[in-house]
Amino acid sequence: MFINDALCEKHKNIKYLSLFSHSVLFNIVFGFILKTFMAERVYLLSMNQQQSIFLAKSEVKTHDLEHKRKISWNIQKYNASVLKGKEQFAELELARKKAKNIKWKAIEELDRHLEVFEKNFTAKGGKLLWANDAEEAQQHIIKICTEKNTTQIVKSKSMVTEEIHLNEFLEAHGIESVETDLGEYIQQLDGEAPYHIVTPAMHKSKEDVAKLFHEKLGTPSNLSPTQLTLVAREKLRSKYQTAQIGITGANFWIADAGAISVTENEGNARLTTALPKVHIAIVGIEKVLPSIKDLNLFLPLLATFGTGQKVTSYNTLFSGPKQKNEQDGPDEMYVIMLDNGRTNLLADISVRESMYCIRCGSCLNACPIYKNIGGHAYGATYSGPIGAVITPHMKGMEEYKHLSYASSLCGNCTEVCPLKINIHSMLLANRQASVNAGLNGFQENMGWALWQKGMMNRKLIGLAGQGIKNKVFHSVFSKSWANRREEIQFPKQTFQQLFAERNKKES
Ligand code: SF4
Repeated sequence: MFINDALCEKHKNIKYLSLFSHSVLFNIVFGFILKTFMAERVYLLSMNQQQSIFLAKSEVKTHDLEHKRKISWNIQKYNASVLKGKEQFAELELARKKAKNIKWKAIEELDRHLEVFEKNFTAKGGKLLWANDAEEAQQHIIKICTEKNTTQIVKSKSMVTEEIHLNEFLEAHGIESVETDLGEYIQQLDGEAPYHIVTPAMHKSKEDVAKLFHEKLGTPSNLSPTQLTLVAREKLRSKYQTAQIGITGANFWIADAGAISVTENEGNARLTTALPKVHIAIVGIEKVLPSIKDLNLFLPLLATFGTGQKVTSYNTLFSGPKQKNEQDGPDEMYVIMLDNGRTNLLADISVRESMYCIRCGSCLNACPIYKNIGGHAYGATYSGPIGAVITPHMKGMEEYKHLSYASSLCGNCTEVCPLKINIHSMLLANRQASVNAGLNGFQENMGWALWQKGMMNRKLIGLAGQGIKNKVFHSVFSKSWANRREEIQFPKQTFQQLFAERNKKES
């Protein structure tokens, strides 16, 4: 047994050494073949427009040290808060597993929960509308706006409304749509999309915001954060009173209660829904919770992993319009249940788990790529690791497959996710789907086929000498791998020769 074990160990070592040899020599053979047969850089060949934009924006942000400083500062603060927030859980791991189980079951039974929600929500006078895509959602909204002679809308923070480009759509129809969440208000003033799914203006310092308010609102350029908040509050208060419609998203829709749950820290969602006569909530179909009892677990999880709080300041359930014996609330309430590509995730078992996401933003804050390139480089509503998983399915694999390659696959996203969503495995699944669908282009496929041919032939691997290897490698990979790394100098002897020498000495 002992000898067998030792032999196995030896074979294992040889196998690892052989793998090492493959990985080093891969570049040589791959490069040589490409240089000889194609005379082009493979990474540039199959690039689509979205990918080019992504690379160009990433390049700029990666070298922006000021951007990095602001992001690091904010993420450090976030990390410290999350550690404290986690202390509230007696058994955090158990809570995370339980939450994942609830979402797994809920998504597997999504059709049933949607029916239960519809029955319960409409029983209290709510109106449920279904939208297959962004256009259908927009059409529902404009129809309601037209019926109500709407000129002004107030909005609380909602990534789904970003997804359907609601502000631009309403503006094109002559309707003013005002963001009431402070971070979103700042971004709207600046004409920028949210930078982060939880903290939309995370990339701006207090000085940046003071400068922005000075330029757009004429305030003094040196206001403190408190003064800036007061300015925003004053500007927004009158909007709540004059807007005909208030629009929100929802953190969860709850089947047995026929209600949506909205979580916020500023009270703006409550004003958005309490003062205008009509409330429209736009909700993704995946935001399901089967029972109101589930909030007991999901609200603290979302608060802790989203912002490091024990529980978010305002948590409100909206279950329909104002009832007969109630004083506050809208006369009408609509929920628009949005698909917009989510059923593509549901249909694909390899990425279905991404539908458990509660949009806490934790995986963005933990991702080394996000921390370097920032939220806007992704060119998608949902950035970071979870965005890289879902965007190719929601907006098109061909245009957005590159996002799944923008990952070191370190697994930190999976590690920090409160739902333990297997994000990095799904990034791999997307890469596989893209290859299987033949989206990686003729040149890349040909490159890999030739590489495979070369790697199956050890004589071929040993053919090139040190000089050729250095030249080919540095030439072919000068604009990609070798762009910011020290030059590699290949050894004079091949791995086979080195290995044979070592064996000779040992014997
Ligand atoms: S995937 Fe997980 S960590 Fe990322 S936003 Fe969703 S719930 Fe949070």
